Amino acid sequence: MSDEMSSPLLLGAEVPDDPPAMARGQQTVAILGSGDFSRSLAVRLVACGVSVVVGSRCVKRIAPGLFPDAVELSSQEGAVVKAQRLVVLALFPEHYPSLLGIRAALAGKVLVDVSNAMELGSGVSSNAEQLAELFPESVVVKGFNVISAWTLQTGTQDGSRQVLLCSDSVEGKSEVAQLARLMGFHPVDSGDLRQSRVLETMPLRLFPSWRGPLLATFLLFLFFYAYGFLRDLLLPYLAHGRDGFHRLALALPNESLPNVALVALALVYLPGLLAAWLQLWRGTKYQRFPRWLDGWLLRRKQLGLLGFLCAALHAVYSLCLPLRTATRHRLINAAYSQVKAGVEEPWDESGVWRSDLYLSCGVLALGILSLLAITSLPTVGNVLTWREFTFSGLGYTALTLSVTHTLVFGWDFAFSPQAYEFYMPPSYVLAVAAPCAVLVCRCILLLPC
Ligand code: NAP
Repeated sequence: MSDEMSSPLLLGAEVPDDPPAMARGQQTVAILGSGDFSRSLAVRLVACGVSVVVGSRCVKRIAPGLFPDAVELSSQEGAVVKAQRLVVLALFPEHYPSLLGIRAALAGKVLVDVSNAMELGSGVSSNAEQLAELFPESVVVKGFNVISAWTLQTGTQDGSRQVLLCSDSVEGKSEVAQLARLMGFHPVDSGDLRQSRVLETMPLRLFPSWRGPLLATFLLFLFFYAYGFLRDLLLPYLAHGRDGFHRLALALPNESLPNVALVALALVYLPGLLAAWLQLWRGTKYQRFPRWLDGWLLRRKQLGLLGFLCAALHAVYSLCLPLRTATRHRLINAAYSQVKAGVEEPWDESGVWRSDLYLSCGVLALGILSLLAITSLPTVGNVLTWREFTFSGLGYTALTLSVTHTLVFGWDFAFSPQAYEFYMPPSYVLAVAAPCAVLVCRCILLLPC
């Protein structure tokens, strides 16, 4: 079985509540080490009514008042002896071998390993697995490593509430889960001790699910910006000496952002369509998608949010356009030219209609995208039913409105020969191709056959 298949699709479910829940004050929990994590954990446990004994190599070195009065300070061995079952190792893994001297006292106890990996992808066994090898007569449970000392102290309102647990012992895992629940956390069963390799690297990961969508969005922006620079600024300057470089700071980003938003939105709906076509072609839905398509499907939310960000920035930039000195200058010039030419009422009926229509489509599209962005918040998403959550009508409406906004805006220029002076179509013509293809494919899939 491949690695992909051997790891659980979802990181477990909440750990079941048996055996009977740990009662407050009935258990004494030992914490080895007197550092930051130990102190925060002790404060929290005491606040939750659990008896705590902290075991240190040198009790005398612990500053008075560092721990709450209710916490008993002891030698490492003394603390382990006092603990009924749970011993939290608030130490760095390189110091685990220093506990070999109290191996007999640790036998039969549940050792909670809270440590984290030092680097990503080291390939060797995890700290928890090494701990289990050092103390074969103890039960090792990996947990609390994704909870920071700060979260422990500030309460469960801030920071993550999930405590991911893994162990080869179901009983040990259950005992630690009860303690986590007592402290107001959500224990989540993440499997056997091998899963500690994943859990230990979690705090080191930096937005793992955002990397691909961020890179795609950045590259799209770079492409449209460079394309606009070449087509609208550099080539006209080289060919006719027309200096439009003042557009670099505001006008060009404002033209590039909606293009990025359009393509990003198309990329949100394209993998779903590809998946549907693939299932039709295979004649079954009971086959796994290729890995790249699976990955793409999982990144749709991030792509959608980045598309929304670009659309929102485009709206803000557009609102700033009238504030530009260049715009004011052009307006005054236009007014002056009209006065000079004796034109009194240069009302362009179709132009007025067109601008109202594309602005209205843009505003509506942004409104729907904002709604979709809000539903991506876990607190909102959690109260939606599956049918509500997978309701794609809104997304496609936003895409259709965005395409209409672009087409109404640029219909005339898209077909005028001046727009192709350097054999380069306007950038929005390129951008609108992908969403149009998505909409057409979607319409074909809606056909009854
Ligand atoms: P820390 O403040 O440096 O405390 C580590 C403790 O280890 C010391 O107070 C000391 O306690 C003991 N120690 C130091 N040198 C030792 C040695 N040579 N041999 C044996 N024991 C030694 O570190 P921490 O921030 O509390 O982190 C402890 C563990 O929690 C680490 O594995 C870390 O990855 C994990 N963790 C920390 C956080 C966090 O937010 N801080 C979050 C998640 C996980 P005594 O002198 O009393 O023996």
